[in-house]
Amino acid sequence: MLSVVLATCLIAFENPAAPSPPGAVILLGAPGAGKGTQAEQLVKRYGIPSISSGDILRDQVKRGTDLGRLADPIMRAGQLVPDKVLNPMIEERLSRPDCARGLVLDGYPRTVAQAEALDAMLQKKGLPARVFLLEVPREALFKRLTGRRTCPVCKRNYNIYFVPPRKEGACDNDGAALVQRPDDREEVIRERLATFEKQTQPVIEYYSRQRRLIALNGDQAPEKVFEDMVAKLPPTR
Ligand SMILES: [Zn+2]
Repeated sequence: MLSVVLATCLIAFENPAAPSPPGAVILLGAPGAGKGTQAEQLVKRYGIPSISSGDILRDQVKRGTDLGRLADPIMRAGQLVPDKVLNPMIEERLSRPDCARGLVLDGYPRTVAQAEALDAMLQKKGLPARVFLLEVPREALFKRLTGRRTCPVCKRNYNIYFVPPRKEGACDNDGAALVQRPDDREEVIRERLATFEKQTQPVIEYYSRQRRLIALNGDQAPEKVFEDMVAKLPPTR
């Protein structure tokens, strides 16, 4: 208990200007719906960490923990790490002091079993949770993902539909030929979106049944989406 109080004081001290954190914010949405961008904004505004299962897995493997050693061969084989390995990793991460007053979850939970486990973890910590679904029509997601191009030289990002270069296919900075990441190709995107729908629909229904799902229109400027989200978060000091 003392450590929690101490950690809370430390965090408040480190971020004197940050508004009081909103508890746990769970972001759901298809690939390309803008979860990462919104997570970044939440981190900036509230001084809370953003947690993704991918980062946690890689960290545990790198540190060679017991759980990491269990997960490593499964990840290498390209398979999904089972809940009995992943959930304790998430719980360990949530137990660190930086999560004492709030956190953002991006890419977790992916299954109903994970959502249930997460509810139990947050309850234990006494953290309230807000669940947002970033809704973007399929057609718009498609353009966001298949339109992405990157300059191999300066790494600048473009989108042929929304942020096109001045000259087609060439970087504005250095004229290099823009490239498309292999997993942004249309057939791969189709597959990723189908997987998302199949996997995440039950999680959406889980929160929806409990009347906890807050749907946001993700098909607008990121700043506007963020504004809508903050309006649905508990009032801050
Ligand atoms: Zn360039």
